[in-house]
Amino acid sequence: SFSAEVVPQAPEDPLFGLMAAFRRDEDPKKVDLGIGAYRDDNAKPWVLPVVKKVRANSCRRGELPNSSRWDADSSLQADDIIRNDPNLNHEYLPIAGLADFTSASQKLILGGDSPALKEKRVTSLQTVSGTGAVHLGALFLAKFYKPASKPTAYFSDPTWPNHFQIFSNVGLSHKTYPYFSKETKGLDFDGFYNSIQNADEGSIVVLHACAHNPTGVDLTQDQWKKIAEVIRAKKHFPFFDTAYQGFASGDLARDGWAIRYFVEQGFELCIAQSYAKNFGLYGERAGCFHFVTSPSSDAQSTIGRIASQLAILQRSEISNPPAYGARIASLVLNTPELFAQWEEDLRTMSGRIIEMRKALRSKLEELGTPGTWNHITDQIGMFSFTGLSEQQVMKLREDSHVYMTKNGRISMAGLNTKNIDYFAKAVDKAVR
Ligand code: PMP
Repeated sequence: SFSAEVVPQAPEDPLFGLMAAFRRDEDPKKVDLGIGAYRDDNAKPWVLPVVKKVRANSCRRGELPNSSRWDADSSLQADDIIRNDPNLNHEYLPIAGLADFTSASQKLILGGDSPALKEKRVTSLQTVSGTGAVHLGALFLAKFYKPASKPTAYFSDPTWPNHFQIFSNVGLSHKTYPYFSKETKGLDFDGFYNSIQNADEGSIVVLHACAHNPTGVDLTQDQWKKIAEVIRAKKHFPFFDTAYQGFASGDLARDGWAIRYFVEQGFELCIAQSYAKNFGLYGERAGCFHFVTSPSSDAQSTIGRIASQLAILQRSEISNPPAYGARIASLVLNTPELFAQWEEDLRTMSGRIIEMRKALRSKLEELGTPGTWNHITDQIGMFSFTGLSEQQVMKLREDSHVYMTKNGRISMAGLNTKNIDYFAKAVDKAVR
């Protein structure tokens, strides 16, 4: 039977515990810095204006609007392909997902002029957001990736905790490589490099493409080049997780640079791409998995075989991916005017976060808060590793009703012009 020895009580997910504690707190000054979703200056969820526009407007069913046909004021309501269309049907998407969505996703992450796309060395499947893409990639590697010795997956220390669960669930073992330096609150490059160099040949190296979660610490382009060299020398397999393209710097190409560099260098690799954060489509589960093979005379037949196996894995896991979020993203990605507006929305989100970083650093420096605070503006993306100790984190929670994870990570999106003074003073009090 399912006794406690057979099915022990699982530990509570730390993030859910944090959210529950925040909800229970009745203090009006409470601040939620645990959330992994963007919030506007009023601490409210934000539907991107471009997404609102797609939802409110319309385009002909079955035809993606092109630039000349898209009309923001059009009244083609009855032909709307989005949810508010009364004639919309709910047929299945193909197993690999909406083709216009996956092809636009390839261009977005690899760049429109990618050699891999020209040479047809990429296969892509729509997935259940980024999580589903990481899972599909891990599952494929568990079944088909056979270097000389059984491969181990390497994750940054720390990483998005779900990496551990997803890779263990498919039977892959994992280790970590040093990443965050507690001293500098920046990158431990030497530790990272040496660990990859010492890993068994053919290891899987999971890399955050940009806006590293949870630290906010990214590699410079020179550092990426050095990591690429050692990955090549050791015949490792790079696995990119990209959940924040455009959200980090506000510039899609810049945030995709590392992946494009590896592809230009001819690596065989895979990519898990999420649209949760950069489209604000969290609950709609829009994502994509890409497998890129190296250039060779039989690359196209290799990618064909890989695609055929991925389709079987996808079929057994989810059969068909969810349609709504992919339809919205596809419309935006394939329509130049909407794409331009999306880029604007990305700059709104990344810009507000960058403003909050600057404000927090300068307020802490003004208060003379013990310690250095340059890492707040050096780090990038949604999260910041503050360097606050667990004890200080708990003090902030008890004394000031400020909620963050025990590792001192704050979601910058939880800060706004109304609570930033309060938060800076609370930090000042907690570290003195
Ligand atoms: N990878 C990383 C590093 C992430 O931070 C996230 C979002 N928390 C994801 C993947 C995937 O998230 P989702 O499944 O919501 O797209």
